[in-house]
Amino acid sequence: TPMAVSQIGLIGLAVMGQNMALNVAEKGFPISVYNRSYDKTEAAVKRAQKEGLGEKLRGYESIKDFVLSLQKPRRVIILVKAGSPVDQTIDALSEYMEPGDIIIDGGNEWYENTEKRITKVAEKGLLYLGMGVSGGEEGARRGPSMMPGGSPEAYKYIQSIVEKVAAQVNDGPCVTYVGAGGSGNFVKMVHNGIEYGDMQLISEAYDVLKTLGGLNNEELAAVFKEWNAAELESFLIEITAIIMAKKDDQGTGFLVDKIVDQTGSKGTGKWTVQQAAELGVADPTMAAALDARYMSALKQERVAASKSFPTCVTPGPVAGIDKAKLIADVRRALYASKICSYAQGMNIIKAKSDEKKWDINLGGLARIWKGGCIIRAGFLDRIRVAYERNPALPSLLVDPDFAKELATAEASWRNVAALAITHGVPIPAITSSLSYFDTYRRERLPANLVQAQRDFFGSHTYQRTDKDGWYHTVWDESF
Ligand code: NAP
Repeated sequence: TPMAVSQIGLIGLAVMGQNMALNVAEKGFPISVYNRSYDKTEAAVKRAQKEGLGEKLRGYESIKDFVLSLQKPRRVIILVKAGSPVDQTIDALSEYMEPGDIIIDGGNEWYENTEKRITKVAEKGLLYLGMGVSGGEEGARRGPSMMPGGSPEAYKYIQSIVEKVAAQVNDGPCVTYVGAGGSGNFVKMVHNGIEYGDMQLISEAYDVLKTLGGLNNEELAAVFKEWNAAELESFLIEITAIIMAKKDDQGTGFLVDKIVDQTGSKGTGKWTVQQAAELGVADPTMAAALDARYMSALKQERVAASKSFPTCVTPGPVAGIDKAKLIADVRRALYASKICSYAQGMNIIKAKSDEKKWDINLGGLARIWKGGCIIRAGFLDRIRVAYERNPALPSLLVDPDFAKELATAEASWRNVAALAITHGVPIPAITSSLSYFDTYRRERLPANLVQAQRDFFGSHTYQRTDKDGWYHTVWDESF
């Protein structure tokens, strides 16, 4: 039997697991690693040796030896494909684990699967955390944002490790205990939905500037670089500037122009929109981003349809447009839309947290997204401040600072929406954000008519503006 030499173990040595294991080792924690296929274990051990971390990282060919190499309570992070591979891994692990030992699933797991597993492993006395991890390969290696939820007891045993492994920002490590049950996976899911929204909003800004403003790639790269120095500063704007400037190494021109306009997706954006609908929370910006991915996939249909409307507007450079003004307008439209998108994401989390009694601290969540993850941005500190000022804030839109910024952006936002609509450039995430804003601040909506129609054909009844109670009217005797 091997000695208990490691403070923590990690199973699943694909992209995420291998990088996270090296990160843990580099932070000074002896780690044991295991992978179903041994070749990945060998590769991880080799890489650790190459990076001078061979002392700290040990690979095992048998899961039993792997488990027995861990100090108690044993802590094992799983980073395998979400779904049944996680169940299989838990089954294999729990054969050798003992009461008090801890399993931490770091995958993009559906939150209800985590809740089932918490109950299941509790029968064996094991503690469980579902921990969302964001930041991709680089984040895993250098410091991700981590969103652990589940057993608070288990968190105490991993806290000192994950706080060192996480990305570090001005006010601490990008990890905090999120809440009970599947809350860690749930907030990671919404993080990804917000990521979809950000990416779509940026691509719409790019489309307006390129197609209507006539900006070339060099100009676009310069615009995004400039934006990254102020209120829009973020990882996604930063990489967009780099993408714009990247030359095609297999031909002439720029690489981005050679990429097929079809976007894939893996499911977390869809889950976010589904959950918003289940909770009765509006999320038009994220839904627009998801729909945009679906419509991008219809490449052949779009090519055919582009020939079906010869008399309609064809998007193209707008004669006499003031480029500098357009750039300033798009910048404000993008920022205002981003505020709306984050407001929706936070409201989804708040609604779920209320339903499940997770008691999620929204300001704390904004803080751990400031570094390490794909949506990292200076902007998130503003969200932290907004929720610290008022933890019961009904919407980020009415935080005094954000409200002021939305009002400042308003004219530009409408200019961009009107220009794009007039010239046939679809900007669904920007326009749906603007509609969200206009709807939220509208005292009276046309919902009175919808309610009248519902009462007309379905006797659904309605309330009156001038009297209490529910009313039904026979609107027309002949129906
Ligand atoms: P992945 O491609 O999702 O999964 C590959 C790993 O899963 C391999 O180690 C594989 O082992 C193992 N595996 C698959 N089926 C298994 C089974 N039935 N039993 C045991 N092991 C099994 O890997 P990844 O991209 O590194 O992602 C890991 C998790 O992190 C996923 O949940 C993913 O969604 C999440 N995540 C990924 C990223 C990213 O940027 N890639 C970012 C955030 C979160 P073998 O080598 O034996 O096949």
